[in-house]
Amino acid sequence: MRALEAEVGSAPSNRAAIERIDAFTCERPPLHRNFLEDVEEHADNPDVGPADIAQALRGEHEELLGPDGTFSFRTDNGEFELPLRRNCSYILLGHSTQPTRAHPYLERDVVNHELGHALHYGLWLASGPLGERLSTAANEAIADILAHVFDGDPCHGKVLGEGGTPVDCRRRMDVYEQSVSDAFWRFGRADHETGQSLRQLIWTLREEVPADALRVAIVDGIAAVQVALSQIDAEPLANVPIFDDEILATRYRFVREYEAASAFFHAVCASLEDAPPACGEHAQRIGDPRVAMREAWLANAPTSIGRSGVTLADGRRVTFELEGALIRQMTVTLADGEQQSYLGDPDLGLPEAEREPTSGRITLWFSAPGSTAPGAQVGWTSDGELIAR
Ligand SMILES: [Zn+2]
Repeated sequence: MRALEAEVGSAPSNRAAIERIDAFTCERPPLHRNFLEDVEEHADNPDVGPADIAQALRGEHEELLGPDGTFSFRTDNGEFELPLRRNCSYILLGHSTQPTRAHPYLERDVVNHELGHALHYGLWLASGPLGERLSTAANEAIADILAHVFDGDPCHGKVLGEGGTPVDCRRRMDVYEQSVSDAFWRFGRADHETGQSLRQLIWTLREEVPADALRVAIVDGIAAVQVALSQIDAEPLANVPIFDDEILATRYRFVREYEAASAFFHAVCASLEDAPPACGEHAQRIGDPRVAMREAWLANAPTSIGRSGVTLADGRRVTFELEGALIRQMTVTLADGEQQSYLGDPDLGLPEAEREPTSGRITLWFSAPGSTAPGAQVGWTSDGELIAR
């Protein structure tokens, strides 16, 4: 790694530096999966050069060495890794740090789950490039489905009690409590639990359709997710690097998770003759598509509004000054022409994002520089209101 750091520091361009790290990642002990993605975000930033990338690489190296100087990935779970250029892939399997679970490298569920990711992306890569952004709900459900559908074990990840005997499961294949839409809305993003209704769908079908037909249906479902994600990638704002605009970011996260899960459901069920009863439960399992919310949030995202602005019912006009993906300033023009400017956090630049847990509504909070009332903030909401606190 020391040799790589030197090579990267003297690379002729950021792109050349990134290519060197990527090649190294496939040839030698791998770097953490997010490192290259983080670096690549700054590839075209004029303030960043190869020396900065080499510095980031040294920071990564120090983290891998840890306080005791032992090179280790320090992961206590499993991870499927597909480096940036997709020239290779591998699985990292760590040591358990808790008495309630076996070492991931000894745990069949974890190994099969990571191999499930490999099989899943392998199927996608066989038909073209992967999408820009994926779907956590679909990806994690599919990895669990591929890990368990043929071994028939509904318990994913054994929780160990005293004496090391299994007493519980970290996830189950045979239960779900809420739709994908509702599960997403509880957190504002997807996690390993969001796709429970997809796991349980396959588990139900497993009892009702022949294994060969189910296998074909799952492969059809996986292919349909890729089509859905590619369609989203083609939307104009779908892949802007969203740093500040939490309204747009949450909106696109929701669309990806919902549409990927819905596509999987439809394709699996369309593949089966005489669709079983579970296939009639799209509304219950995938949930509310929140179509009106999607449109309102897209219209009210600062990234969409920009300098062209919106006029509120009371005559005030709101515009946003953007620099790439950064929200530099919000300006409110009063009916009499007076202008008031608001900035995000003075150190970070970005507005503070707040989410209401039940409605999901997001408010981006800005401050008025030099305001007579310190701490007073003005908020722009995902439903297009200007509010104060
Ligand atoms: Zn996973």
